[in-house]
Amino acid sequence: MRKKGGKEKLNRLANKHVLQLSIILFLLIIIAVVVIVARKVIINNGQATNFETEEISNNDDSEQSQNTTNSTNETGTENSSNTVTASNNLSLLDDWQIRLVNRDNPLPDDFTVELENLDASRKFDKRAIEPLKQMICDMRDRGIKNIWAQSTYRSIEYQKGLYEKSINKYLKQGKSQEEAQKLTDEYINRPGTSEHHLGLAVDFNNVDEGFENTKAYKWLLENASDYGFILRYPKEKEDITGIEYEPWHWRYVGPEHAKKMKEQNLCLEEYVLGSNLV
Ligand SMILES: [Zn+2]
Repeated sequence: MRKKGGKEKLNRLANKHVLQLSIILFLLIIIAVVVIVARKVIINNGQATNFETEEISNNDDSEQSQNTTNSTNETGTENSSNTVTASNNLSLLDDWQIRLVNRDNPLPDDFTVELENLDASRKFDKRAIEPLKQMICDMRDRGIKNIWAQSTYRSIEYQKGLYEKSINKYLKQGKSQEEAQKLTDEYINRPGTSEHHLGLAVDFNNVDEGFENTKAYKWLLENASDYGFILRYPKEKEDITGIEYEPWHWRYVGPEHAKKMKEQNLCLEEYVLGSNLV
């Protein structure tokens, strides 16, 4: 009996140990699972801001893509993030119609485009001149006679002249060089950063805000997307485009893109780069 009792005690002791070990093992597994889940959450959060960059860039080289993400996170500056975004998109979104030209995305010095004459002194991209002519023609047919293309393609040289002229105007008004530059930057793109260099932008009539109150402007808001044109610098997008509202400036992006941008109320920066990146 005593012997049997001792065995039972031994068995109970062994069972107790097995139970304790099982509990410890179970706890270890739970800790491991928690650690793995926590790590995943941290990694996902770290990549979240760059998710769209990677999606747009569709980078096959995952290692390079990872490096890009890391370097952006480490430096954390707006400039570096813009540079990454811009270079990825310029090389991969290979669509001439939605080529983004702005302060962060200047054109290369060797940029060329095939132009065609709109009239004696104005030129436009050969691939988009017909929609522009058609649009102006249709406006006139609808009784809007007071419409003309004032400024279309501009060479980088010409833009230099415009930019300097504006700076000088402000200097003559007694502004400092810094103030003159700031005021000029609000309306005139620095040479190389104007989309007029593309031959896809048109300024209508007197190039002033009064254009907003014309029949032509209202007609353009309604119909320009059918011809592939968008209002490039809308009032509510000034923070994103970095350019003050310009009712006179319209940009050809092709009907397909223009309609999508109009429907979704996106400016070109948002459409090309993704709304979280600008
Ligand atoms: Zn313009």
